[in-house]
Amino acid sequence: MTITADETSAPVARERLASSCVCCGSADLASSPAILMPFVADRAFGWAPVEIDDSWGLQTIRNGMAYTICKTLRCRQCSHLFCDIRFSDAEMNALYAGYREEAYVALRDHYEPGYRARNTGLVEIVTYKPGIEAFLDPYLRDPLTILDWGGDTGSNTPYERRRVSLDIFDISGKDVVPGARVVTLEQATSAKYRLVICGQLLEHTPYPSEVLAQVRKAMDADSVLYIEVPFETVMRQDTPDRETIKRHWHEHVNFYSQSSLTALLRTFGFDILDQNVLAINVAGSDVQILQAACRLAR
Ligand SMILES: [Zn+2]
Repeated sequence: MTITADETSAPVARERLASSCVCCGSADLASSPAILMPFVADRAFGWAPVEIDDSWGLQTIRNGMAYTICKTLRCRQCSHLFCDIRFSDAEMNALYAGYREEAYVALRDHYEPGYRARNTGLVEIVTYKPGIEAFLDPYLRDPLTILDWGGDTGSNTPYERRRVSLDIFDISGKDVVPGARVVTLEQATSAKYRLVICGQLLEHTPYPSEVLAQVRKAMDADSVLYIEVPFETVMRQDTPDRETIKRHWHEHVNFYSQSSLTALLRTFGFDILDQNVLAINVAGSDVQILQAACRLAR
C-alpha cells in the first residue's frame, strides 16, 4: 500500500535559526561560529559588510570589518552539516530570482572578484547526463514524463530523446528550452510524472523536507524521484568535528553526507532504490556528487 503525504513525518518546523537537524529532526547538534558570505548576506538581507572605525564612536567594540555572523551546525545522529540561518521565502526569492543573470553576476563579481569569468564555465551544459541516465535506467518505465523541480532552463535535464514531456518548476523565472513547459506549483503538484528530478537543489533549500513534501504530490507508485546534491570535500574527509572546519556559508546551506541524505529520504516517506557517488568535472574542477533514486515508501 502506498503511503500518502499525510502519513509521513511532518516537515521540519520553520525556524529563523535551526534548533534541530533539517534531515532527521534530531536536536543533538554540535555548533561552531561561522560567517555568511557577503554576497549572500547582501542579496538575501541587504546586509553589506561594514568597516567599523573611530567615527562610529562605539565604546566597547574594536575597530575592524564586520560580517554577518552565523553558526555551523553538525547533527550528531546523521552527520548533516548546515548553516543555522534559514532563509524565508522572500529571502530565497531575493537570492535566486534572475539566478546567474546580469544583476546577480555583477554583485557577485563585486564581492568575489573573478566570478564573472568563472560563471562562463558554470553555465555550460553539464557533461554528465550519461552518468545520470546510466544510474536511473534500471528503474524507469516509458512513456517517460519528466518534472524537473528547480530545473532552471531545462538545458541540464537528462533524457532529451527518450522523454515525451518535460515540465519545469523553478523560482529563477528563466525561459526554458524548446519543448519544455514552465509549470506553477499547482500544476506540478496536481499531475503525476514517471520521473521527478531534484538535482542540485536540496543543498540550497532551507527546509528540504518541505520540498520533498511537495515533490511527492507529483508522484504515484510508478514514479521515480532522482536526487542529486554535491558531495562536498569536507563531507568526504574522515574527521569527527567538521563544524570547526566549515567557517563560511554561501548558497549551499546544507552539506549532505551519505547518511544524512538517507535519513532525509527515509524520514519523509521514500524508499531508496539506489545510491551512488559520481565523480565529475565541472568547469575544470573535479567534484563529486551524491545521487539517489527513490520511490514513495510502500
Ligand atoms: Zn540529522
